[in-house]
Parts: sequence; structure tokens; C-alpha cells
Amino acid sequence: MTTMGTTDESLRQDLARRGVHVTSLESLYNWGRAHSLWPLQFGLACCAIEMIAATMARHDLARFGAEVFRPSPRQADLMIVAGTVTKKMAPMVVRLYNQMANPKYVIAMGACAISGGPFREGYNVLRGIDRYLPVDLYIPGCPPRPEALLHGVIRLQELIRGEKLSGPGRSRAADPAVPGEYPIPNYGPAGLRPPFNPDLWQPPSDPDAAPDDGSDAVTPRETTA
Ligand code: SF4
Repeated sequence: MTTMGTTDESLRQDLARRGVHVTSLESLYNWGRAHSLWPLQFGLACCAIEMIAATMARHDLARFGAEVFRPSPRQADLMIVAGTVTKKMAPMVVRLYNQMANPKYVIAMGACAISGGPFREGYNVLRGIDRYLPVDLYIPGCPPRPEALLHGVIRLQELIRGEKLSGPGRSRAADPAVPGEYPIPNYGPAGLRPPFNPDLWQPPSDPDAAPDDGSDAVTPRETTA
């Protein structure tokens, strides 16, 4: 097997020296997608400033083929959730994801997007966007520096290059059993309903654990409007 693989590789290199490049359709497809990521142009809080900095001259995200931020979700295939996701904003974030083109990816950038961060105990903050959207990559930090986002984008490109188009382990977009859209929660008088998407996230099974279902742990304040 190894000998065969070595022979194939030496033959491939020999052909490449003669200007003949041999590859698989899967590799070509993944290579094209990995280096033409179009992130959705939006931000939610302070982490978005670091995301913006990653695109500027000093860090220059464009070097990695991921700088064409698009203002329309229909032209974007990468959602960078950069900042605190409030329960009021969560329905809009999920709706934007649903409107994005397939295949699409999600990066949770910063402690807030991952878990609620310093506002986790707040009555109005979502304890992680992965309760509603399938997150491909988590970038920890408060905030993560632009270099961390660059590293995250490079890791995502590696993941995309390793994706399969068919068979076990195929990508989400190539699997008809995986939905391309997720239920949009509503912000009701007592928080989000439904409080989470059970297909994506399950609350802890430990009965002694603190309530952590994403719903309001405290009675919401009355509005005076
Ligand atoms: S993780 Fe820190 S820097 Fe990022 S949005 Fe939350 S509070 Fe702001």
C-alpha cells in the first residue's frame, strides 16, 4: 500500500515537472472553496473591532483569500459571530445564517459568542451561539487578537480542504440529512422560545447543575413602555 502510494506520488511529481497536474475533483473543489471565503459583514460588540482590525493593512486577512466581506447574506458563506449575542439579537443572527449560501461555515469569535463571556449570567445574553447554529470553529479570548482570527481562518481552511463530498464524514452541505436552515427563536416575555435547538445542543444532564437552558434564570424586568 505504502509502495503504491509512494509510486503514485513520484509519478504525480514527475508529471508536475512536465506541466501536467493531476488531482481529484474533491481536492480541486475544496481548494477553491477554502481560498475564496466570503465572510458576512456584520459585528455584534467589541470582538468585531478586532475582526475589522484583521482586515486592515497591518494584519491583512486578504492574504489568505478571505477578505471579501459581503453585506448580503446571500453572497456570503462564512459567518463570524464576533461579539455578545443578546437574546434580542439572536433571531436576527439565525435568520442571517439561514439566508446564507451553502456550503456555509460559522466561527464563534470570543468568549461572548462561545459562552456568553463576562455577561453569561445576564438575563439578556445568549450562553453560546452554538445553541442555535452549527459552529465549525471556536476562537477563545476576550477579545481574541486579530492574529487569533487569522489563525482561526487558516484552521477553517484546513478543515474545508479535508472535507469529503460523499460517504461517511462528508461535509454538512453534502449531507442531505443536515438542514441548511435552523428554527428562528422568538423573543418572548420570558426570554427566547424555544430556549435552544435540541438538534444542536443539549442542556447538561447533571441534575445538580445550575439551570443552563438558555432561558431566563431570573424574572424579566417589566417594561415601562
Ligand atoms: S468576548 Fe470580550 S471583547 Fe469580545 S464581545 Fe465579549 S466582552 Fe467584548
